[in-house]
Amino acid sequence: MSKGIQVIADYHTHTIYSHGKGTIEENVIAALGKGLHKVGITDHGPGHLFIGIKGVSAFRQMQLEIKKLREKYPQIEILLGVEANIVDSDGTIDVSTEILRELDLLLLGYHKLVKPRSLLAASHGVRNFISGWTGRSSAKLRRQNTAAVTAAVRRYPVYAITHPGLHIDINTEELAYVCKENGTMLEINSSYGKKLDPYIKAALPSGVNFVVNSDAHTPQRVGDFSEAYNLVQRLEVPHSRIANAVY
Ligand SMILES: [Zn+2]
Ligand SMILES: [Zn+2]
Repeated sequence: MSKGIQVIADYHTHTIYSHGKGTIEENVIAALGKGLHKVGITDHGPGHLFIGIKGVSAFRQMQLEIKKLREKYPQIEILLGVEANIVDSDGTIDVSTEILRELDLLLLGYHKLVKPRSLLAASHGVRNFISGWTGRSSAKLRRQNTAAVTAAVRRYPVYAITHPGLHIDINTEELAYVCKENGTMLEINSSYGKKLDPYIKAALPSGVNFVVNSDAHTPQRVGDFSEAYNLVQRLEVPHSRIANAVY
């Protein structure tokens, strides 16, 4: 396959339960069409303003749908996950303990425009928003962001950090070491092209493992790993460090 590796699982896809365009079934059919063995349904957590999963009832509906789809498509493993958000400066995420127990897959993305859980988190969020807008950050903000995301990795069973380093200013090298220690992977996201290069480069010396995902927001993009394959080749990421690849 492309560039000497073949990725057989897509752990990061979105559906109409957040702001994806397709249904869960459409993502499953697309994954089957690409010959994948596993597909993760990982919509944005409820803390994401405007686009997150609409509460526990929506989650229950997803659960029910996936249960039926597992019977209909036994040839593929369908994982119910969430792309959780950090909602507080101590690393708290927007998934309750009750829901967390029922998930097959927890991804953690560090995004802007997330409902803050405390005043401190609100001021933190505003500073991140302004920093994204002006393109300038401060050492203090970077330290606080890194502390929040590393605390979340230590506290929750995070399978992978989505697009590490993007959107919010963090010390990706430090995050990579903490992930390595805790068995969490960093994602090589196939939706951002060369933008991820500096972050993956910063993570490489830590010895952390990676997972390649599409971050598809349409069924057509499920299992589309071409940009990730290019990154792997460009940065010479050892194939043995990509958890969902065969080579
Ligand atoms: Zn999205
Ligand atoms: Zn995503």
